[in-house]
Amino acid sequence: MKILVVNAGSSSLKYQLFDMDKEVTVAKGLIERIGIDGSKLTQRVGDDKFIFEEDMPSHVEASSYMIKALTDKEHGVVENMSEIGAVGHRVLHGGEKFTASVVIDETVEEAIKENIPLGPLHNPANLMGIKACQKVMPGTPMVAVFDTAFHQTMPPKAFLYGVPMEYYHKYHIRRYGFHGTSHRYVSARAAEMLGKKPEELRIITCHLGNGSSITAVEGGKCIDTSMGLTPLEGLLMGTRSGSLDPAVVQFIINNENITADEMLDILNKKSGLLGVSGVSSDMRDIDAACEEGNERAIIARDILYTGIKKYIGAYAAEMGGVDVIVFTAGIGENGYELREAVMKDMEFLGAKIDPEKNKVKGVEKDISAPDSKVKILVVPTNEELVIARDTLELVSK
Ligand code: ADP
Repeated sequence: MKILVVNAGSSSLKYQLFDMDKEVTVAKGLIERIGIDGSKLTQRVGDDKFIFEEDMPSHVEASSYMIKALTDKEHGVVENMSEIGAVGHRVLHGGEKFTASVVIDETVEEAIKENIPLGPLHNPANLMGIKACQKVMPGTPMVAVFDTAFHQTMPPKAFLYGVPMEYYHKYHIRRYGFHGTSHRYVSARAAEMLGKKPEELRIITCHLGNGSSITAVEGGKCIDTSMGLTPLEGLLMGTRSGSLDPAVVQFIINNENITADEMLDILNKKSGLLGVSGVSSDMRDIDAACEEGNERAIIARDILYTGIKKYIGAYAAEMGGVDVIVFTAGIGENGYELREAVMKDMEFLGAKIDPEKNKVKGVEKDISAPDSKVKILVVPTNEELVIARDTLELVSK
């Protein structure tokens, strides 16, 4: 069966068509600047790159052009859309309602809508993507795969904040966690690589990209994760601050005479690697600036390294030890300097990296030293494949 995976953002739409008989990607596309001047679709099929520039005022037009590109006589991959058996949609926030992926019906759409206050930037875009696909592919079954679902196994001691309980009951204020599809995939893949069952392992998964989160996976289930009510909590990220003393927020608001919304914008978009270094939000630029001796870049990088170390230590303590540490996403898969720095002096935990094996980018590899009790693995993530697999499973039922 052919399955289309759609990841709709506020002004973008990424898609990937899978042939699930062989689990291979047939086509990959990115539509940018939806609702803005200069909308553009770029589709890749093998070495073929097809670019298409046309006005796309909304996700409905964007979805129509996605279909046009997929069925294009010269650059397309299917004759008509009936060849596509189902569509899997990435949805950011499933709140407490969704512990797994689900076939989309009216109730599910309603629940995604109800969770808009928790995911104000993403859920409306995800819903637009769903609606637009339903319009251009009527009758095709669709599945929602939530970023939060994998983390729903966390116990209350991990998901509740130390604030009056009434806020949890009134507003559902709690830790939800994100990147769940990625943490689920790499932890399961790590167990497979080691020939073990997930039930036998305590795994710490480090998803380090523009957004970063770390998860403790015990016996195949998430027991704690670094992101919180929103993807702002936890590690220092590209442009996000990560965790800080909430009193800092009040102090800056009062002294800079700005609103809470403006403050949140600063914490989400102008902080992190970018804000501390003043150089860039991109790890490659930070690494280059560090090479040149830029002190602010060095501090920014050190904050990130230390943050990762702290979470690994904390989650190992929480699980009573750790068997596997996994690195994934842009920085985790490629940044061997980061992996080496983070794993330095971790022998007390039983974890020792092999500096030579570690010099890899973007491939599955065991990078632990022969005498390391803890396995340290690089596992490239594949969220789209998980979405396609979940979709296939649910529509085949
Ligand atoms: P997103 O969260 O947007 O999906 P990615 O997982 O693609 O992000 O990660 C993007 C990050 O990965 C950027 O900071 C980028 O600099 C970093 N990255 C990509 N390649 C390398 C590399 N070779 N070395 C270090 N960092 C890298």
